Amino acid sequence: MTKLITMTALALGIMAASCHKEQAATDADFDYTADRFADIEVLRYQVPDFDSLSVNQKALVYYLTEAALWGRDILWDQNCAVNLPLRRALENIYTTYDGDRENADFKAFEQYMKQVWFGNGIHHHYSMDKFVPEFSQTFFESQLDRIGTDADAKAELVKVVFDPSYLAKRVNQADNADLIATSACNLYGPGLTQAEIESYYAALKDTTDLTPISYGLNSRLVKGADGKVHEQVYKLDGLYGEAIAHIVENLDKAKAYAENDAQRAIIEKLVEFYTTGDLKTFDDYSIAWAEDTASQVDFINGFIESYGDPLGMTGSWESIVNFKNIPASHRTETLSANAQWFEDHSPVDPSFRKDEVKGVSAKVITAAILAGDSYPATPIGINLPNANWIRAAHGSKSVTLENITQAYDAASHGSGFDEEFVIDEPTRKLMADYLFITDNLHTDLHECLGHGSGRLLPGVDPDALKAHGSTLEEARADLFALYYLADPKLLEIGLLDNPEAYKAEYYKYILNGMMTQLNRIEPGKDIEEAHMRNRALIARWAYEHGKDANVIEMVKRDGKTFIKINDYEALRGLFGELLGEVQRIRSTGDYEAGRQLVEQYAVKVDPELHKEVCERYAKLNIAPYRGFVNPVYTPVMDGDKIVDVKVSYGEDYADQMLRYSRDYSALK
Ligand code: ZN
Repeated sequence: MTKLITMTALALGIMAASCHKEQAATDADFDYTADRFADIEVLRYQVPDFDSLSVNQKALVYYLTEAALWGRDILWDQNCAVNLPLRRALENIYTTYDGDRENADFKAFEQYMKQVWFGNGIHHHYSMDKFVPEFSQTFFESQLDRIGTDADAKAELVKVVFDPSYLAKRVNQADNADLIATSACNLYGPGLTQAEIESYYAALKDTTDLTPISYGLNSRLVKGADGKVHEQVYKLDGLYGEAIAHIVENLDKAKAYAENDAQRAIIEKLVEFYTTGDLKTFDDYSIAWAEDTASQVDFINGFIESYGDPLGMTGSWESIVNFKNIPASHRTETLSANAQWFEDHSPVDPSFRKDEVKGVSAKVITAAILAGDSYPATPIGINLPNANWIRAAHGSKSVTLENITQAYDAASHGSGFDEEFVIDEPTRKLMADYLFITDNLHTDLHECLGHGSGRLLPGVDPDALKAHGSTLEEARADLFALYYLADPKLLEIGLLDNPEAYKAEYYKYILNGMMTQLNRIEPGKDIEEAHMRNRALIARWAYEHGKDANVIEMVKRDGKTFIKINDYEALRGLFGELLGEVQRIRSTGDYEAGRQLVEQYAVKVDPELHKEVCERYAKLNIAPYRGFVNPVYTPVMDGDKIVDVKVSYGEDYADQMLRYSRDYSALK
C-alpha cells in the first residue's frame, strides 16, 4: 500500500558523470556513482539545505541518524538467520585477504559480498532469490580455513553459499505450498507450519474490534518445548534487545533537541513502544506521528512494512530520517492554493467541472539517512501509517523524497540514453535544463489537481468504465498535467521561469509513450499496466490526430526511429482536446467510447518498433536496480553538547558497509 518504488520520472540528460570523489561544492561536480556490480548501480545522494537547518535541528537529525544506523543488524537477522554469521565471515575474509586481489576467484567473491550487502543478506532484494556465487567452493573453503572457522560453522556456510536448494527464496508467495516452509526468512522459528501460525493469530484476533492492533508486527513466532506457539517480542528486554538499546539511547538523545512538544511526545511514545513492545502504544505513536505536520524534521524508525513476511504480519525494521524541503513543498502548496483557478479554466465542458475543488497537498522531503529495509534500495515516496483505521480517522502522511529522485535523474545523465533516443542537441539541452523541474511539476499537477478535478453528471455510476476505468483515470490526470504545464499561469505563480520549459516534458512524454516504454514489454505481449496504457493512449492519439498538420513526426535516420515534434503549441491543443473527450467519457460514463479509445491506441504493440527499441536499449549499460550509500554526519562537540554537524559524501560503498558492520553491530 505504502511504498512508491517505481520512478515516474524517465530520467534523461546530456551531462557525462564526473569521476572524482571529493565532496562537491556544486551539483555539476557531484559524483553520483559509488559502485557498479552485477545488476546493481549504487549511487550517492546529496542533502541540499542541510546547512540551512538550525543547530538544534542538525543535532536532532544527527541522533536520529544514529538511531537509524543501529537497527541494521535487526533487519539482517529478520531476513535470514544465516545472514549475520555469513556477513562476518565474508568481511573477515575480505579485509584480511593477502593474496592477489585481481585473482578471478577473489573478484567474484568481492562481487558476491557486495550483492549480499545490497540484499541485506543472501537473497536479492527484489526477486528474493538466493545469490549465485561465481567463485569456486575450493577458494571459499580455503578462505574459511584461513580465518579459523570451526568445522560445523564451515559446513553450514558452504551449504548456505553453494547449495542452491538450501534457503532458496526469502519470501515465497506462490500459493501452492506451505509459505512458511518454503520461505527462508527468519520471522518464524523452525518446525512451525503456516496452519499453526494462522490459527494462532485467528485465536488472538477480535473481529469486532474497530481499532485493531497490528498483530504480529513486532514479534517472531517459535514453537516451544511444550509444542505450543510462543511470541518472541522485539523489545528492549526481548528479541533484538541489544540493538534496540542503542536505538533507544539515541532516540533519548534526539529528544533533547526536539523542535516542539508534539515531536518530543512522539519520540517518547516510540521509546515507550521499544521498551514495552506494546502494539497499542505503537498505534498511539503512529497517530501522533501522522498528526504532526508542524515539525520540519521528521523520521520513521521501527517495524513497518510487512513485504518481508510471506503472511504479511511482521514488519521489517527500517528507518528514514528527513526534513521538509520548504521550497519544493511550496510548489505543491501553491498549486493547491490555485486549485479553483485550474478547475475553472480546464478545457472541458463546463458542466463537467467541479464548482468547488480542494487541492490535496503532500510534502516534499529531503532524506538525510536511509536505513534498514530502506537501504541501500530505497522508496522514492512513502505514505504511512499502514493501519487502515488510523488512516481513516487520523489521516496519513504522503511524502516524496526529492533528493533521491534528483540523484536518480542526475545519475542517468551520461547513461547514453538521450544520445541514443533523443533526436537532436537542442532537444537534449532543453531536457537537461528543464526535465527535472517539469517532471516534478507534472507529478504534482497529476497528483494534487488532476485526479481531483472534474465531476460525474448526476446518476452516473463511478465504475461505469469498468476494466478501462483506471487507464482512462490516469489519462485524465496526465492530460490535465500536460495541458497546464504549458500554461502561462505557471510562470505567473512562479513555478516556472521559462515559457519554453514545458517542451522538455512534452518531448519526453511522447518519446516514452510512443517508443521507449516498450522496453518494459516482453516480445509478443500487449501493453497491460494502466499507467503504460495511458501513456501509449495519449502519445499515439496525439500522433494520429496531429498527422494532417504534421505535429509529431516519426523520423528514420540510419535505420533508427526518432520522435520529432514540429509544433509544440498544436500538441498542447491536442492534449486539451483529448482531455475534453476523456472527461466527457468519465462524466457521462460512456463505456463504449472509453473502450474504443483504449483498444485503438493503448494496447497493441508495433512488433518492428518494439524490437528496435529493445535492441537499442540493450546496448546501453543501464543497471536494472539502483540503491544508495548514505552521507556521513560528523558532530562538532563542545563538551557533550553538539554545536554543529558536518555532512560529507565521499565514502565508497564497501567502506560504508564495512564501517556500519564495525561501528553499529550489537547482535551476537
Ligand atoms: Zn495517477
